[in-house]
Amino acid sequence: MSTSTVRCPFCLSDKEAEAPVCPTCNRETEIPESLRKEHEDLIRMRDRLRDELAEKEARLNSRRRRTGKNPDADGA
Ligand SMILES: [Zn+2]
Repeated sequence: MSTSTVRCPFCLSDKEAEAPVCPTCNRETEIPESLRKEHEDLIRMRDRLRDELAEKEARLNSRRRRTGKNPDADGA
């Protein structure tokens, strides 16, 4: 007999491959293909937004450095 184990995607502990629910965190590890695909799409979208944000922050920081003053401390 052989018991193959897989890693639970949620708590990252080993569980039996045949068990539909992780014994450690009690979550279902059988994820429908459609959901898995949607998840991948969301991660890609998140990474893209993260890159965009980093780029905009970098641009903003270089602009602040150029003007040499903090626009938040613009006491009139
Ligand atoms: Zn788990």
